[in-house]
Amino acid sequence: MLVFSKTSGFRHGSIEAGLDAIRQLGVANGFGVDATEDAAAFTASQLAGYEAVVFLSTTGDVLGPEQETAFEDYVRNGGGYVGIHAAADTEYDWAWYGGLVGAYFLSHPVPQDATLLVEEHDHESTAHLGDTWERFDEWYDFRDNPRDRVHVLLSVDPATVVGSQMGGDHPIAWCHDYDGGHAWYTALGHTDESWAEPAFLQHVLGGIRTAAGIAGADCPGKAAIDPSPTTPSTSAADAPTTAAASSPSPSPVITPVDTASTVLVASRAESTPDESDVSWIALSVGAGIVSLIAGSVIVVRRRRRGDR
Ligand SMILES: [Zn+2]
Repeated sequence: MLVFSKTSGFRHGSIEAGLDAIRQLGVANGFGVDATEDAAAFTASQLAGYEAVVFLSTTGDVLGPEQETAFEDYVRNGGGYVGIHAAADTEYDWAWYGGLVGAYFLSHPVPQDATLLVEEHDHESTAHLGDTWERFDEWYDFRDNPRDRVHVLLSVDPATVVGSQMGGDHPIAWCHDYDGGHAWYTALGHTDESWAEPAFLQHVLGGIRTAAGIAGADCPGKAAIDPSPTTPSTSAADAPTTAAASSPSPSPVITPVDTASTVLVASRAESTPDESDVSWIALSVGAGIVSLIAGSVIVVRRRRRGDR
């Protein structure tokens, strides 16, 4: 994967700790990690070598127009997006990115202890947690509540944070399928100490693996686009049984530090057929023209029936 940590606004001191930790996750879990703060890495040919791109506390305007287009195409081709902390404080004038990350940063109260409510236990990024998770961090408020657009994995118990602007509902980590790719975002990770916290590292690892489509690639509970009913099984049961048959992506221009990244490359095909149906569903409901879309009718109807 590619970790991108360019900042044109506030720069978090924890970026280096985060980068070190993600590299170690890669070593321990068999995926290669490249890191850059150079927006020139965002070309079609270079991005094609990665299963996911991690925006690690990026801030401000970090990509140019052609680089933005390249990244949009990458996601539309099934690429994964992982946003961490200030990734929501990034690219305010690129609306497509705002949709990808899910919500833009608004403000934050002073860092403090809070209790998180674990809303999803079947996603790999939260499956290791109990019903609540108490920890110290900087708790972002967002410009609007993303709950209607994403599948919320964690929210802040509003009674435990002083100074929040989010009212009674405060999503803080989520996933969704977006424009052909898998997106995962967590607002956690402000502090250096976060990156030495096993539960947080497991959270990030699960986000990376699901965004990359390695395991449990479906964002659970997104009824409109998830064809399978929610089951009590663990996310591991949703892992692809085989990924060996897919074709390799072009080699990245940036040399991976770990050749095991081919494992990630091989899993790409698992994510390709299912992710572009949101607009089709909207069309079918709104205008009744499903019958005109011969090739998609069966798929769309199966999804609509299966999600109730
Ligand atoms: Zn911060």
